[in-house]
Amino acid sequence: MNYEAVIGLEIHAQLLTESKMFCGCSTKFGSEPNTQTCPVCIGMPGVLPVANRKAIEYVIKTGLAVNCTIAPYSRFARKNYFYPDLPKGYQISQYELPICEHGFVKITANGETREIGLTRIHLEEDAGKNIHEGAGSHSLVDLNRAGTPLMEIVSEPDIRSPLEAAEFVKKLRAMVRYIGVCDGNMEQGSLRCDANVSIRPVGQKEFGTKTEIKNMNSFKYVEKALDYEIKRQIKILNEGGRIIQETRLWNTAKGITESMRSKEEAHDYRYFPDPDLVPVKVDDQWIEQLKSQLVELPDARRQRFTSQYGLPEQDAELLTSERAIAEWFEQAVKLGGDPKSVSNWMMGEFMRLLNEEGKQIEESELRPAQLVGLLKMIDQNIISGKIAKTVFEEMYKTGKEADVIVKQKGLVQVSDEGEIEKIVNEILEKNPKEVERFRAGEEKLLGFFAGQIMKATKGKANPKVLNELLKKKLSS
Ligand code: ADP
Ligand code: ZN
Ligand code: MG
Repeated sequence: MNYEAVIGLEIHAQLLTESKMFCGCSTKFGSEPNTQTCPVCIGMPGVLPVANRKAIEYVIKTGLAVNCTIAPYSRFARKNYFYPDLPKGYQISQYELPICEHGFVKITANGETREIGLTRIHLEEDAGKNIHEGAGSHSLVDLNRAGTPLMEIVSEPDIRSPLEAAEFVKKLRAMVRYIGVCDGNMEQGSLRCDANVSIRPVGQKEFGTKTEIKNMNSFKYVEKALDYEIKRQIKILNEGGRIIQETRLWNTAKGITESMRSKEEAHDYRYFPDPDLVPVKVDDQWIEQLKSQLVELPDARRQRFTSQYGLPEQDAELLTSERAIAEWFEQAVKLGGDPKSVSNWMMGEFMRLLNEEGKQIEESELRPAQLVGLLKMIDQNIISGKIAKTVFEEMYKTGKEADVIVKQKGLVQVSDEGEIEKIVNEILEKNPKEVERFRAGEEKLLGFFAGQIMKATKGKANPKVLNELLKKKLSS
């Protein structure tokens, strides 16, 4: 039997507001446990929540960016359950009237671009954190995170492969980072993703029974967990078994998903409108104002990068994947860098060095002006392209300007014919047999000679001058 996967994702994004969703407590990360709490967020009786306007605006902005309809009227609901990290005994969320509905994003996987529908985007509050390590036989509760604004983005079951799922998360992460509503840090949990997956025989319309996977804190794990889960489900069906609707956890160390609990249904939560909060009313004027604050989004920017700078699609895609990367690129071009050269250096050496250190571009001290300085030295034949790589790395590591490094390390390219000729002569004299073989027709030895000369000049010989001289000498 040939099966096809059906996947729908739920993404939770912590919003970058200064204060919590329903009280004035700070949302700063990493403070001493329970220092950022108040009677509202620890669920004392008799207190009243007040919605954070900024958080609502962030959700509307996101909704606008992903083609959603913004509801003129929405409201908060209580989702009732007990857990030690939820002091009120309910989470304030949204149920039948979310702020945003019916959007879509475009994703590209394996060269194919598809639209993935978004069911809704709603606003809710985060829970606290239970801490089990270092507390002996007890568990501890830190409520600093309790009440932090969370935006939940729910996709339609439109995704068809683990790769598409990973691309979807990437796309939304880029989007919220572009708009500036979430830092997108998956490792620290400010962007979390649950994946719902089922399989069905190819050609069948009805969906199969789904499982939900939690606890994947990187794109790679989203892809791996889904890969594993799809194979697991296929095996069960092929052996004549049935899929149980349940919540499963991705175990990073073992590379498998494990059953966590049977899936609860919406009615288990006894949702009802929160009587302590007024409904959210959004008028056109507010929407227009937020629209005007939206920055240029990745898709629009990608198209502009191909038309305005003549960049290949692939370059534009990578350079616009992050706002900070796109801005770095445009600054370099504004300072006089040739677009394609800047792109090559960014996509090659720069990304390589950043990846090696696991750094984001904004964490690097390298400035666009420094790359432009280096490009000028290459253009003016002061250094060779090969030496430039060394200079770039040094520039990246020390923050020094290219010309300073070139001067200090004596890397200036040698273009003087007389100087190079001396070395060419030396090398040819040292290798008479190879010269003979070359003259007998073994032309590929040219590379050998060039290599020897480059070695002798520590890579500083101007390759053009060198090649011309070498050919002249060998044919004379
Ligand atoms: P639940 O009632 O379990 O919360 P929802 O219908 O609200 O389920 O959907 C939750 C998520 O699961 C959505 O992202 C949706 O696209 C996805 N989903 C729904 N049905 C399926 C299915 N049969 N297979 C895979 N994903 C599904
Ligand atoms: Zn508080
Ligand atoms: Mg649901």
